[in-house]
Amino acid sequence: MKAIRVHEFGGPEVMKLEDVPDLQPGPGQVVVRIHAAGVNPVESYVRSGTYAVKPSLPYTPGNDAGGVVMAVGDGVKRVGPGDHVYVSGSLSGTYAEQALCNEGQAHRLPDNVSFEQGAAMGVPYGTAYRGLFQRGDAKAAETVLVHGASGGVGTAAVQLARAAGLTVIGTAGSERGMQLVRAEGAHHALNHSSEGYLEELMKLTEGRGVDLILEMLANKNLAKDLTVLAKKGRVVVIGSRGTIEINPRDAMGRDADIRGTTLMNTSEQEYKQTHAALVAGLESGTLRPVIGQKIPLAEAPRAHVEVMKPSGAYGKIVLVP
Ligand code: NAP
Repeated sequence: MKAIRVHEFGGPEVMKLEDVPDLQPGPGQVVVRIHAAGVNPVESYVRSGTYAVKPSLPYTPGNDAGGVVMAVGDGVKRVGPGDHVYVSGSLSGTYAEQALCNEGQAHRLPDNVSFEQGAAMGVPYGTAYRGLFQRGDAKAAETVLVHGASGGVGTAAVQLARAAGLTVIGTAGSERGMQLVRAEGAHHALNHSSEGYLEELMKLTEGRGVDLILEMLANKNLAKDLTVLAKKGRVVVIGSRGTIEINPRDAMGRDADIRGTTLMNTSEQEYKQTHAALVAGLESGTLRPVIGQKIPLAEAPRAHVEVMKPSGAYGKIVLVP
């Protein structure tokens, strides 16, 4: 089979399409024929060699995929050959024609959901669910600001929050992105590139502020986030690409919390809860992953350039073998 291989850390060009042996499942394992693989910013950080966790070289990048079960090992019960699944985490990497997974990493994909949409589930929806519910304690009737709602995590968060009964305010950096944010269920869309958009947010909440913020670019926004939180508000830091100075008094006066999150810290129990909720959301149609770009697997380097562009996000980028 063909797979993207990384032999040295570096720029996008270190990803090369190569021939590698077909995969065989061991006990409790599953091999999935990949029809689409999700591209997440984290895979670009890992490839560059600057991320906290480094795989041993050479490796195949990728965490997420949608595809069909090809073969299962002894003892596998939840899925069988021919089943449509989405993969959230794998043993072998998903930028490839096949992926090897533990049984628990393959989740049934309902008939109404495409393989590309399956590839958008693991990291983006897993992170949005964790940010909203496991770290953010989101509750119905609260107001959430999804600060960066046009990308993979943001669109997922908007859909999840809307379905859970929150008032949803989402931001994007372009008119096209704001249209997407509204279409995916936000009650209000604001432009994070325009002057005064947080004043607009305060007007929308009648001066009260928001109960919860899911923050995609904390190094830019965290200081201002603290000023638009309601009393006992929470900021969940999902993305940050640098440092920032904050005024702690903005948190003190509100009894506010700043909560970090990393998907890697998800416990086994939380992982099960997350995917039970996500599969249910796919089945009911409340979750509808948005695919912005399909890029051939061989062009993985271009996909990493696209996913790291500072603006213009539109749903999910997927690689197609
Ligand atoms: P993505 O699809 O590339 O989306 C990036 C989002 O950030 C877009 O909505 C973009 O909006 C928005 N953005 C750009 N400038 C912004 C600003 N000034 N203020 C607020 N938002 C801004 O990436 P993603 O997959 O959704 O991931 C988002 C971030 O979360 C990344 O930094 C990623 O590394 C991180 N992440 C963390 C975890 C974790 O475990 N903590 C997991 C997944 C992702 P426009 O393009 O419309 O301007």
